[in-house]
Amino acid sequence: MSDPTIVLKINQISKQFDRNSPPALNQVSLELQEGEILGLLGPSGCGKTTLLRLIAGFETLNSGSIELSGESIATSDKSVAPEHRNIGMVFQDYALFPHLTIAQNIAFGLQKTSRKRFAPAQIQALTQESIHRVGLSGLESRYPHELSGGQQQRVALARALAPQPAIILLDEPLSNLDIQVRLRLRQEIRSILKTAGTSAIFVTHDQEEALSMCDRIAVMNQGNLEQVGTPESIYQTPTSRFVADFVTQANFIEATFRSGVWHTEIGEFEPIGTLENPDKKSQATLMIRQEDVQIKVDDRSNIIIRDRQFLGREYYYELVLKSGQKILVTCPIGEKYAIGIGVTIEIDTNRIITI
Ligand code: ADP
Ligand code: MG
Repeated sequence: MSDPTIVLKINQISKQFDRNSPPALNQVSLELQEGEILGLLGPSGCGKTTLLRLIAGFETLNSGSIELSGESIATSDKSVAPEHRNIGMVFQDYALFPHLTIAQNIAFGLQKTSRKRFAPAQIQALTQESIHRVGLSGLESRYPHELSGGQQQRVALARALAPQPAIILLDEPLSNLDIQVRLRLRQEIRSILKTAGTSAIFVTHDQEEALSMCDRIAVMNQGNLEQVGTPESIYQTPTSRFVADFVTQANFIEATFRSGVWHTEIGEFEPIGTLENPDKKSQATLMIRQEDVQIKVDDRSNIIIRDRQFLGREYYYELVLKSGQKILVTCPIGEKYAIGIGVTIEIDTNRIITI
């Protein structure tokens, strides 16, 4: 591996579980940089867990290769055993041993699952350090069932980090927790990983979780990697309809270019800024984010408010156009409109992009 800042290199890997179904992973290439938290984001069934299991060594590749810290750990015909890969794992269901205390759970990881050999005194020191790192000092002798879900997940993280693995893989670690705990743990996990300096792959199907926790995000769709980039670039400049839809949950409007202007059902837009038309396309789909639409009451308009939801910090409106197409809008809390009224739509052209 030529670049020392790349800790994990995935080269064109494919995995097909059975001949009659499409591949779970299709020619996926991805790199994890030293100290980085990389999010793997995609809907259920798109291949996220399969990719993690291949990296961890629980599945074998059909083609391609994986290198960790400059060494090959997997090809289609050679595979290093999981316990020899120097990789830590955290699962959605915590996977703690119920009959072992917190300290024993963590020490077990150091004794049995690491390829490194630790002396007993070292095991004790690393266990303590690890418990302290995740903020659970004082709870060493408790059993998993005596802890909350959030605390159990922190134990699982401590156990994965204790042997100081080269990378750590987290498979939807927050999905089983209540929303309040989930929101708090997002930042806690990020800060623990950053303090430890561990490189991590964080799997989630929740776009907000990926955007808020990760340094970069890889968006997956049906076994393919759709786009890789910073949270800002994925959100602001999605390169496919799939990414725009899944990450941004935006509106899409068909547009026709005629007489130098984009014509749509919600109005006409000048081809300036992000709507420039250098390829002289006659048709395009415009992406319009929910938060970029302003609405104004207009009794004569045939755009109707069909539904309104109060979300605490904002209102969420569902508008319906004459054609039946829905437009979703979020508005500041001061803007409360009645269901059933007509409205017009205003959008800053610079916020719209063609997809
Ligand atoms: P995700 O974690 O993104 O929800 P998975 O990686 O679990 O997705 O699954 C990807 C695809 O591979 C799915 O279609 C799933 O049914 C299939 N798959 C996963 N594991 C197996 C397996 N052991 N045998 C057969 N098919 C599998
Ligand atoms: Mg999964």
